[in-house]
Amino acid sequence: MIARTTRLCPECFGQEIDGLCCRGMLALVTSWEWGNPKLGAKHFEIVSSFLIQHPSQYEDKAIQSLRVMLRRHLDEGLPVDRIRKIHGDLFAGRTRVRADEGNTVIQPREWPITVSYVYVGGPDEALERVNRWVTCVRSGL
Ligand SMILES: [Zn+2]
Repeated sequence: MIARTTRLCPECFGQEIDGLCCRGMLALVTSWEWGNPKLGAKHFEIVSSFLIQHPSQYEDKAIQSLRVMLRRHLDEGLPVDRIRKIHGDLFAGRTRVRADEGNTVIQPREWPITVSYVYVGGPDEALERVNRWVTCVRSGL
């Protein structure tokens, strides 16, 4: 029997699946939005959940703001176009959102549900899995 090592994401501890890291799985999950309007309506929640679980490439203040916006979106129904406007004002012009290349610090945090959970179920079950993932991220804020 050949022992297989499972590769884990250094940030969220999610498993690599099909040779895909978390970012690769996110790309596929968001591509499923095209054929699924209900999933497409969750785009902000999908991307926010991903970034909150993978904050190393972004400035702290950008991630903190995203955490607040996701919470307000889920708890108070703050609309996504309003969030875009708020973020557009906060991070306009020269305000940095991405951290400098050499300045990224990975702060590992284990999450019960990550993007791999959504990906592994395939597109047909994606909506329910996204809802569980987002609920997990919300409860971890
Ligand atoms: Zn990850």
